[in-house]
Amino acid sequence: MKIYLDGKFVDESEAKVSVFDHGLLYGDGVFEGIRLYGGNVFRLDEHLERLEHSAKALMLAIPLNRAELSAATCETCRVNGLSDAYIRLVVTRGVGDLGLAPWLCPKPTLFIIASRISLYPQEHYDNGLAIVTVPTRRISPAALPPTVKSLNYLNNILGKIEARQFGALEAIMLNDQGYVAECTADNIFAIHKGAIMTPAASQGALKGITRGAVFDIAAELGVPIREADMTRYDIWCADECFLTGTGAEIVPVSKLDGRLIGDGRPGTITRDIMKAFRRRVLVEGTRI
Ligand code: PMP
Repeated sequence: MKIYLDGKFVDESEAKVSVFDHGLLYGDGVFEGIRLYGGNVFRLDEHLERLEHSAKALMLAIPLNRAELSAATCETCRVNGLSDAYIRLVVTRGVGDLGLAPWLCPKPTLFIIASRISLYPQEHYDNGLAIVTVPTRRISPAALPPTVKSLNYLNNILGKIEARQFGALEAIMLNDQGYVAECTADNIFAIHKGAIMTPAASQGALKGITRGAVFDIAAELGVPIREADMTRYDIWCADECFLTGTGAEIVPVSKLDGRLIGDGRPGTITRDIMKAFRRRVLVEGTRI
């Protein structure tokens, strides 16, 4: 596997960063997870825009402009002969000393990995995924905006560890007011009487690219969709529920905290959205 690292393609075994890189020492950096479907990079421009916004929030200068990032991403897929892949694009603060000071890191590190995809096991797309609510709260936007896709995922990792302790693959994280924010690595949607709702970014949700695609699909299907303040009760008592993410795509939820969602089977609106998403990924996107 060839990795793009600071302007060059290097073999996987040579793709190394310094132990003084602040991405490693402090989680100081930003990233994107992107998908390649049948030779098309899904919503690449939106991913790059989110990366730029994350970097801006951290006052981190990305060494390439949008067109150069786009070309490097596509090239990474091409040199590896891939037509379907999961792409990880990472920009770290770069090498500095052992203090926090980002201004002592003269050159950001940029690397791109195009690798194989690992979805949830297929049974969960067919039958739904049982999830739980974990005690760890989603980090407050006043501390670190969850809209910033930073390399510091410890908050989500604590949530993921707790999910596993409860025997679940994914979990809801509430915000510090007790409203539903999102899952550890996915956005969440509930459907009530034919209308879809999802937490707003201001409640602690990442502005997911797949989430954005669901808004477009809902408009195309004529299904009402809105952002709303949601509690666990709104999901326990929903007719349908599903999660979205670049890695997960769209996965139905069958159970939350031991309560069946609807009849516990993936609902019709969820299934229609999953089908529409499948169609879109093959036609939408940047040809590599
Ligand atoms: N929330 C979090 C915390 C995430 O890490 C992700 C990405 N896996 C998402 C939501 C979903 O966003 P996207 O659809 O852009 O992958």
